[in-house]
Formats: sequence, C-alpha cells, structure tokens
Amino acid sequence: MTTLIQTDVAELDLGALEERLQSIGVPRYHARQIFQWIYRRGVSDFGAMTDLARDLRGRLAQDFSLSTPAVVKQERSQDGTTKFLLRLTDGHFIESVFIPDTPSQTFCLSTQVGCAMGCAFCLTAKMGIIRNLTAGEIVGQVRVLLRELNMLGQRFNIVLMGMGEPLHNYDATMKALRILADEHGLAVSSRRVTLSTVGVLPALERLATEPLMPNLAISLHATTEDQRDLLVPINRKYGLAELLDACRRFPIKRRNRITFEYVMLDGVNDTPEDARRLVKLLNGIKAKVNLLPLNEAAGISFKRPSDERVNHFAQILADHHVNVSVRKSRGRDIRAACGQLMTESTRTAPGARLAAAMRSS
Ligand code: SAH
Repeated sequence: MTTLIQTDVAELDLGALEERLQSIGVPRYHARQIFQWIYRRGVSDFGAMTDLARDLRGRLAQDFSLSTPAVVKQERSQDGTTKFLLRLTDGHFIESVFIPDTPSQTFCLSTQVGCAMGCAFCLTAKMGIIRNLTAGEIVGQVRVLLRELNMLGQRFNIVLMGMGEPLHNYDATMKALRILADEHGLAVSSRRVTLSTVGVLPALERLATEPLMPNLAISLHATTEDQRDLLVPINRKYGLAELLDACRRFPIKRRNRITFEYVMLDGVNDTPEDARRLVKLLNGIKAKVNLLPLNEAAGISFKRPSDERVNHFAQILADHHVNVSVRKSRGRDIRAACGQLMTESTRTAPGARLAAAMRSS
C-alpha cells in the first residue's frame, strides 16, 4: 500500500499551484479555475468544481487537500461585531473578528497562535507564543468569515490586528497577502490591508522593499524609551528613536499616512507632557494617531483613563495639527476588542498557559 501525501492548496499561491499541476501533467491554466472556485465562490470540495472535467476533479481530490479552519464558536456583540473562535488542523485555537460598518466591513485577522511580544496591557501576550500561522491559515480566516457571514462577492478591508505580531511571522504574512491579492482569487488590493506592528525593525525594513505594500500601523504606546521599555518589551531591542527613524524612511504612498496606535493607560502614559512629547516625536512623519483607551480585563493591572483625560490628550495633539482620532471600541461585551483576544483553551487551563510560557522562554 502506498501512502499518499496530498498537497494543501490553501498553502499555495497561484504560481505555485500552476507549477504543482504542471508537475503532475495537468495544464497550468486550471490553477486559475481552481482559485476562482476556492476564493470567489467559496467552494472547498474539488468534486463541486463543475467546469473541470470529471477525471481532473478525481485527480485533484486524490492529490490535493484544502485545509480550512473549523468554526467552534461565534459570538455577536450588540454593535454587530462578531468574534469567531476557530480550530486549526492541529487542534490549536485562534480568534478572528468581523467589524461591520466602520464604514467599510473589516476582518481582523490573527497571524500567530498567541504572541511573543509580551506587551504589558495585552491579553494575547499572556498566552505566550505557541506557533506561527501558515499563510493558508491566515487566508483561511477570510474564507471562513466570508462563508459564515454570507459575504461572498462583497468588499471588505483587512487589519492584521488579531492575535500575534505579523512582522514576527514575516514570510507567511507576506505570502498570505500575495494569495489574497491575486486577481483570480479574492483580489484584495494591499491598499485595503493594514498591517499593525510593535516595530520588529529588521522586518519593517524588509517590508519597505515589498512590491505588495499594506498600510502601516505602528503600536507606539509610549513617548520615552524608559516608558516604552516597560510597556512594549521589544523596545529594549529596537528602541523608539530607531523605530521612528525607520518610519521616517518608510516609503508610504502619496496621500497616505502611517497610523500610530497609542493605548491610553490611566496615569501612566496619558499626561499632557506625554501628548506634547508625542507631537515632537512625530514631527516630520506623515502620521495619524489613533488613541485606544485601554480595554480593561482581568489580569491586566492598568486602568482605562476617563473620557476627559482622553479628550484632553487628543486636544493637545489636534492643537499642534496632529491628525488624531479616538478609536471607538467595538465588541467589548464579547471580548473581541483590541488586546482582548485570548483563546478559550488558555483562558480555562492555567496549566496550559504555564506550559506555553515555559516553551517560549
Ligand atoms: N502585534 C501587533 C498586532 C496586534 S494589533 C501590534 O501590536 O500592533 C492590536 C492592537 O491593540 C495593538 O495596537 C495593541 O497594542 C492594542 N492593544 C493591546 N491590548 C489592548 C488593550 N487591552 N486595550 C486596547 N488596545 C490594546
């Protein structure tokens, strides 16, 4: 008996699928048809790809698989935000979030199971890093959400702001953007994708040279090196000054800006001095600032500042002609808001959490 090793089509960009087909004697152009079935029509069964000859369908079903994350749970917030708990083929869990009417429809995707960055106020950080997602698992979240939300054929934006640090999983993230952008598939232009990062500098420099360039959001959160060292530990390796220099050099498109995310922590980084320092730091960068008043959670020792404090901070930025907005928190009632993603298995099993923390150390 021979054991058959199937190729997972979810992990292939169009070029790779063409080559794979050719290598088994199937004409390359069928790859486009397969992409259309999978990404535009949401079909995951080769047998249902009815414009392919029956023989070919049989051959595909034999040689190829298409792994797709399984929906374990869907929770819908009062504001329409929907959080999906997904199970990967190896049993790990991730979360993805649909945010309606922002004014566009937005999918917030995970790039890792857990996260290694250890930001002091983020719940995902408590999981530690369990593993990277593959490109197919990143794109798979979009396929599942489109299907579950009956959104095939509709336009949507993508933010890489779920679990994980996209620049700590660079190759899979970029490959996922290539698969998403393919005109024979979902054709998601990189203008509709925003990559959010704490600033893994070597990867950020690499991103600056990519042909497919997503919008950039930087999780800044602090205005001095000391303060950022504590809140965003990777700052000890790649400091604030270097990060902002890299942002100054970053080739942003005309009429575009880099978003700076700034989590506001009561009495920690929300003072008028912080606001004034932030104005200075952003001098010379085409920036917009997105203030995120902390989403509080058990296990996070910081507090959310009052609306007055947030507004005062925002006013100082605006007075200095910095483009600023306060992010309206979505889906807080279902723990789908920024920094609140943490999968159930970790929430309920302190042993697993400890094990994960030990693995990553
Ligand atoms: N690792 C990337 C992608 C995650 S994006 C990054 O950090 O940019 C998630 C955003 O939510 C980040 O800006 C993160 O700092 C922010 N965030 C994390 N915890 C939060 C919390 N408790 N309240 C509000 N925002 C939070």
